[in-house]
Amino acid sequence: MTLSVTEIENGREAVQTTVPGPILLLGAPGVGKGTQAKELVKLWAIPQISTGDLLRFHKANGTPLGAVAKGLMDRGELVPDDLVNDMVADRLGKPDTARGYILDGFPRTLNQAGWLDTRLAGKAQEQSLPVVAVSLKVDYNQLLRRITGRRNCPVCGTIYNIYAKAPKVEGICDVEGAALVQRADDTEAVFAERMKAYSALTEPVVEHYRSQGRFVEVDGDRPIEAVSAGIIAAVKRLRAT
Ligand code: AMP
Repeated sequence: MTLSVTEIENGREAVQTTVPGPILLLGAPGVGKGTQAKELVKLWAIPQISTGDLLRFHKANGTPLGAVAKGLMDRGELVPDDLVNDMVADRLGKPDTARGYILDGFPRTLNQAGWLDTRLAGKAQEQSLPVVAVSLKVDYNQLLRRITGRRNCPVCGTIYNIYAKAPKVEGICDVEGAALVQRADDTEAVFAERMKAYSALTEPVVEHYRSQGRFVEVDGDRPIEAVSAGIIAAVKRLRAT
């Protein structure tokens, strides 16, 4: 996926004129948060902080946090707030977050949102900018198709979908030639659990940020570049106010 020339030009302008600050990408599993985060990273040169990716890293490396997270993640349940908050605190302490960052998959509970709000209230400079929250919307059946069709390259991270964005050769990454893998939690049964957790615990977070302003809902059921353009325009507008 690539941005159009106009969007790249707009992006360069945005880099010069917009300090992005903290951006939250909210939305149900499979809505495209990871894909969109990668587009914003290219545009603003700020890091994507995906709590799902960080937890998968811990899982793969067998750390104590990974050991706790494994069973919960495989069942589609959330990892306890304190563990996730500490992991995010550690990541936000790195210097590459100074101009801003994209939080992908965090906060997912009101407790996490409260923790983040308190933390940001105590920060200086760009990090004291209020968050801009972007909620991506896609309907349930479409999400199910995206989740069960999703395949990832374990080498370069490219995301495919066997229904909508298939690799040229079945099961093989176009870029790396590596065998594609499916996430353990991208099955229909686990998806249903993840959606239950989303409705019960994360939808209130969306309402929390909606009520604070600096919030935009974006239709995620469109081509990647159209969704990106919508997010970029919204962030620029919200940062200008
Ligand atoms: P994701 O890659 O964002 O879909 O996350 C995969 C799984 O990691 C989730 O189903 C949860 O088990 C766990 N996880 C990711 N982010 C969080 C979070 N902010 N709080 C609790 N658990 C999380």
